[in-house]
Amino acid sequence: MHYRIGVIKGDGIGPEIVNEAIRVLDKVAEIYQHEFTYTELLMGGCSIDAYGVPLTEETIQACRESDAVLMGSIGGNTTTSPWYQLPPELRPEAGLLKLRKSLNLFANLRPCVLYPELRGACTLREEISRNGFDMLIMRELTGGLYFGERKTEPVDGVMTAVDTLRYNENEIRRIAVKAFEVAMKRKKKVTSVDKANVLDSSRLWRKIVTETAKDYPEVTLEHALVDSTAMQIVKNPAQFDVMVTENMFGDILSDEAAMVTGSLGMLPSASLNETKFGLYEPSGGSAPDIAGKNIANPIAAILSAAMLLRYSLDLQTEADAVEKAVQKVLQENYRTADIMSENCQQVSCSEMGSLIAERI
Ligand code: NAD
Repeated sequence: MHYRIGVIKGDGIGPEIVNEAIRVLDKVAEIYQHEFTYTELLMGGCSIDAYGVPLTEETIQACRESDAVLMGSIGGNTTTSPWYQLPPELRPEAGLLKLRKSLNLFANLRPCVLYPELRGACTLREEISRNGFDMLIMRELTGGLYFGERKTEPVDGVMTAVDTLRYNENEIRRIAVKAFEVAMKRKKKVTSVDKANVLDSSRLWRKIVTETAKDYPEVTLEHALVDSTAMQIVKNPAQFDVMVTENMFGDILSDEAAMVTGSLGMLPSASLNETKFGLYEPSGGSAPDIAGKNIANPIAAILSAAMLLRYSLDLQTEADAVEKAVQKVLQENYRTADIMSENCQQVSCSEMGSLIAERI
């Protein structure tokens, strides 16, 4: 089969790690007889340098014409880079926000996996981390508290600020459907996280998620309160499979879950819309402190490519092969500098990419 993949390498370590992800995709194409056509697109600081804006209409259009987009990361050193002297709407991150909005990417998926081989990096006690864990947090990305009406004004002479947490049933249903569909490709369990003991928006959330579950009888659904979930993530993360939640709750819980894995360079992410299209990128940033040194960890970018194969191209076997190759390299004790530990062999970014590609 032939697939069109948009490629936004971005800034900092972006080009280095995306090159390794492409090396792995090329190996997948060779072994499984696919054809991937890559279209390189600019976004972020490199687009500011070339066109004066972080995202052009041409880039948005080219993304729309792709089956999926693979991205590195964007932005520079926020204190020293001239990009951050520009007005906020012209800075690198404004490009990413605009792209997500233009493509209607409402579901953000962040798998948080602790590989048994990397349990030393985990911040939790040995008896909790011993067997590793594998959860996926799905955060609603275009509604909720971050997009509701807000204002700050004097009320009876006292400065008062209001933020609004608003969801309609259609917005909840479409993300619930995504959560169940993703769970069908994993361990078939969904934990819907809300604050239904206090918030009306959460009570509607719970009702719609429960209704949607009826179409997915194979998936086990449980509801959990956000405060209790925050505790459970550090107490017993292995109990979770897919967790689906409102924008702000997801923002906080996904960072907490990422932290307990202990290694930012290992975590991929995906942002999906109602079609099969998605934008796939590492959870970390552009790491300007290590850019251009060939020492960044490309695994988050490679695992983002695996998510692209699974969720946008429906190539489950190929996605599994990439993930298994990553695990194999870790079992063989190869490590980049950020995850280096005793008795392991340190390798560069490009060496890590080659080792993984060779094991597909
Ligand atoms: P960062 O994630 O870039 O870096 C934090 C630390 O983690 C650094 O020490 C870095 O070296 C390390 N790190 C990150 N990814 C790594 C990898 N693959 N391998 C090895 N080490 C890695 O966060 P930051 O320093 O706060 O931000 C730097 C820039 O990235 C800023 O401009 C920020 O706005 C941007 N950013 C972009 C995205 C995105 O593109 N989606 C996300 C977050 C931050």
